[in-house]
Amino acid sequence: MTTDDETLEMLVAEMAAHDAPITMVLRPTSAFQLASLLQLALRHPGTAGAVRGVALTFIEHVRQYFRDAPTIFEVLRRGDDPVFDVPSRITPEEIATLRAEVANGSGHECGEWSAGDRCQLCDRPLAIRVRYEPVGGHVHCRLFTAPATTETFAKAGDLTFSEKEWPLVSARLATVAELLPEDE
Ligand SMILES: [Zn+2]
Repeated sequence: MTTDDETLEMLVAEMAAHDAPITMVLRPTSAFQLASLLQLALRHPGTAGAVRGVALTFIEHVRQYFRDAPTIFEVLRRGDDPVFDVPSRITPEEIATLRAEVANGSGHECGEWSAGDRCQLCDRPLAIRVRYEPVGGHVHCRLFTAPATTETFAKAGDLTFSEKEWPLVSARLATVAELLPEDE
């Protein structure tokens, strides 16, 4: 048995011995499916750092390939936009049922289905946290919301700004959200 540290050390050594670029040919369908899968992975708050940049670059290449296909282009755009996430498409009837259950004391993931600045199920106001990371000439941001009364942040949306825009954007963001670098 090797320890995690030893595994990491061997992984780094093996990676260093494989620096030739990988050339891959993908069918357009496969590229589209992979991009969708990466968009899903990017929703996970743990998807951070360099791996995030790789995923965003891949998705961008796929997007460029489909730039003359308006429907596919739009579906890829929606994949980037948390507003179109499946949970936000819950019906008003389902929301009403869940609200009643929460009112009767059942637990819920607060803020998971937010409307505006409130949790739709218990009406608690949401706090906003922005994680930012400079990548190349841009600053990638991930937005999280959380009920103001807890520390649990959930639901991320992505934004990218140029380094030129960042000073103004970050100053404005700081007035409405908690601004933190990715590595904190
Ligand atoms: Zn709630």
